[in-house]
Amino acid sequence: MSSADRAGRFGLRLAVWYAALFIASSAVIVLITYLLTSSSLAQRDHQIIDAKLGEYATVYANGGLRALANTVEVEQRTSGERIFVRVLDGGSEAVLLSNAEGWDPATLEVGTASLRDGTVVQVGKSTEARRDILARFRATLGLVTLAIIVIALTGGWIATQSAVQPIRRLSSAVRRIIATGRTDERMPVATEDDAINELTQLFNAMLDRIEGLVRGMRGALDNVSHDLRTPLTRLRGTAELALGAEPDLERYREALADCIEESDRVLVMLNTLMDISEAESGAMPLRRETCDLGAAVTRALELYRDAADAKGVQLDWGVQHQALAYVDPVRLEQVTANLIDNAVKYTPAGGRVVVDVDTADGRALLRVHDTGAGIDPAELPRIWDRLFRGDRSRTERGLGLGLSLVKAVVEAHGGRVDVTSAPGRGSTFTVSLPAHAL
Ligand code: ADP
Repeated sequence: MSSADRAGRFGLRLAVWYAALFIASSAVIVLITYLLTSSSLAQRDHQIIDAKLGEYATVYANGGLRALANTVEVEQRTSGERIFVRVLDGGSEAVLLSNAEGWDPATLEVGTASLRDGTVVQVGKSTEARRDILARFRATLGLVTLAIIVIALTGGWIATQSAVQPIRRLSSAVRRIIATGRTDERMPVATEDDAINELTQLFNAMLDRIEGLVRGMRGALDNVSHDLRTPLTRLRGTAELALGAEPDLERYREALADCIEESDRVLVMLNTLMDISEAESGAMPLRRETCDLGAAVTRALELYRDAADAKGVQLDWGVQHQALAYVDPVRLEQVTANLIDNAVKYTPAGGRVVVDVDTADGRALLRVHDTGAGIDPAELPRIWDRLFRGDRSRTERGLGLGLSLVKAVVEAHGGRVDVTSAPGRGSTFTVSLPAHAL
C-alpha cells in the first residue's frame, strides 16, 4: 500500500469518526426538540380542557343542564375548535352529549370534573390536530437529519483531508530523502502553532542535525586521510631506503625499529584525530555525571609528578576549592592530563606549574598556569589547530593534537577553554565547564 493510500485511509477513519460524533450529537438535539414540542402541545390541550371544565361547571351551577346545553351549542357553532362535551348524571347516564358521532375516547384527550350534585362533566379535545403537527414536524426533522448527515460526511471529509495533507507531504519528503540520500531537503513550515507544524519543525531540526553529523564525519574522513599521508609516506620512505641500500642486518634492524615507532605514532594520531572529529561533529558519546574536578586534578598531578621532578619543575596545587562539573569523567581526565602534560613539557628546569580548581557563575573552573616558555603572539591563534606545533616546540615530543582535542572535548561538553600567554614568562590555560546538566 502506498503512503498516499495510507494517509487516505487515515483521513477516511478520521472523517467517519468526526461524522459519527456530529450525527450522534445532532440526533440527540433533534430528539430532545421533538419530545419538548410534543409535551408542550399536550400541555396546551390540557390547559384548554381545564379552562372549559371550569367554565361549564360555573354555567351548570348557575343555570342547570339547560343553560349548559345552550352554552355548548353556541360554542359548537361559533368556535373553530371541536370540543366534545358529555354530562353524566349521578347514575352514570349520559344526559348531554355533543358531537356524539365523534366521541371516541381513543382519539380524544378527556378531562373530567365532578360537580357538587353528583353530576359529572367530561370535556374531550381531539388529538388529531396535535398528531398532524407532530407528523409534519417529524417529516421536517427527518429532512434536517438527512441534511446533517450529508453535511457531516462532506465536512468531515474536507476537514480531515486538509488535516492529513501535511502528513502526506512529510512522508513523501521522507521517501524522497530515503531514495536520493539527500539531506538538504526541508519541509515548508506554516505559521500556525499546532502539533503538525511542531512535527514539521522537529523533522527539519532532525535533518539539520543529521546533515551536520554527516558533514562532520565527511570532514573528519578528509582530515584524517590528509593528516595520515605524511607519516605514512615517511614510514614507506624508511622501508624503501633500507631495502634499496646494500644488505646490512644492522641497517635493517634500525629501519624496522623506526617503522614500528612511526606506526605507533600513526596509531596514536589516528585515534586522536578520530576523537577530535567525533567531538567536533557532536558524535562523541559522552557519559556525563557530576564529577569532582579536584579529584581529577589530584590524579593527573600524581601522574606527572615523576616527570616534573625529573625535569626539575615544581608541580603544585594552587586554589583548591570544591568544584563539581557535569562531564564525562574519562574525558575530563584526558583534558586535565593534556594541559598539565603541556605545562610540564614547555617549562624549563627551575620553573613552576600551578593548578587551580574554582567555581564562578555556577561553572567549574580549571586553571593550569606555568612559568615556562610562553607562546609567541603570532602563534597563539593557531595552537588549537590540528597538527600545529610551535616553532620552538619541535624539539619536544608531541603530535600537535593535544590542544585541538582539549578544545573539541571541552566544547562538546558545552564548556570553553581560553589561554593567556607571555613569551618567556609563561602561559595560563583556563577551562570552564558546566556544573549541572544544561
Ligand atoms: P604538542 O604539544 O604535541 O605540540 P599541542 O596541541 O598540545 O601539541 O600544542 C600545540 C602547540 O601549542 C605546541 O606545539 C606549543 O607550541 C604550544 N603550547 C601548548 N601548550 C603550551 C604551554 N603550556 N606553554 C607554551 N607553549 C604551549
